Amino acid sequence: MSTVITSQKLAKFPGIKAVVSTRSFGNQSFQHSSISEKETILNRRRFFDKQGINADFVVNTGLSHEDKVYCARISDRGRGAMAKKTIIPNYDGLVTNNRNVFLMVTVADCFPIFYYDPKANCIGIAHAGWRGVLNGISINVIDEMKKVAGSKPEDIIVFIGPGIQACHFEVSIDLASQFENAFGSEVIVSRGGNRYANLSMAIKSQLESSGINSCNIEISSECTYCADGILSSYRRDKGGYIAQAAVIGMI
Ligand SMILES: [Zn+2]
Repeated sequence: MSTVITSQKLAKFPGIKAVVSTRSFGNQSFQHSSISEKETILNRRRFFDKQGINADFVVNTGLSHEDKVYCARISDRGRGAMAKKTIIPNYDGLVTNNRNVFLMVTVADCFPIFYYDPKANCIGIAHAGWRGVLNGISINVIDEMKKVAGSKPEDIIVFIGPGIQACHFEVSIDLASQFENAFGSEVIVSRGGNRYANLSMAIKSQLESSGINSCNIEISSECTYCADGILSSYRRDKGGYIAQAAVIGMI
C-alpha cells in the first residue's frame, strides 16, 4: 500500500499534484481537540516534504460543515499551513487559478473532493460530510470556479476521495428521509433494519446536475471505516481518530 491515496484521472496531468495522506503521516488537522499544534506541525512537515509540497505555498481553511468557498490568491499562500492562528476560518471549499497555490482541507470520514479544469487552469477542493452535502458545498465549488476562471462544468474533472461509504455510514430515520428527499431513494441502503447513506453517490448526483460529465468523475473505492490501519475514521476510532490531509495544487 502506497503511503498516499491519489486519483487515476488526475495523475494523467503532470502539472497537478493531488493527494490524500494516510495514517502513517499522523494527524494533519489543527482543529483536533486533543492533539497539539506542535505535533500537527511536525506531521504536516513530514507529509509535505515527502510529497514535494512547499509548505509556504499551502492554504488551509478551518472547516464548519457549511457551504462557503474561498478563492485563494498568491497573497494567501502559507495561511493555516504551519500555524493554527493564520488559518482561514469557516470555509469548506477552496478555489484558485494560480499555480503554486496548494489548497488543503482535512478529513476523517468526510469526503475530500478534488476539482481540476485543464482548459481554464483552475482547481478546487471541498470538504463534504453529510451536512456539507445537504448544504451543496460540491456545487458551490463549481460556481466559484466559473466566477474565478470562467470554467465550464463539462471541462472539469472531479475526484471524490476516500470517505465513509454506504457499507458503514449508518444514519437516523430522519436523516435518511432528508437524503431520500434530496437525492432519491437509491442513496439510502437498508440492511438489518438499519439505514445507510451513500454520500459519494449523492455527491456524484450533485456534480452531474451541475453539468459535470459522469465520465469525468472518479470515486475512490476506499471507505475510511473499512480501511483500518491505512485511513482514520471518526466513527470507528472515536476519540482516537486522526485527520487526513487532502491537498491539490497546480505546479
Ligand atoms: Zn466501510
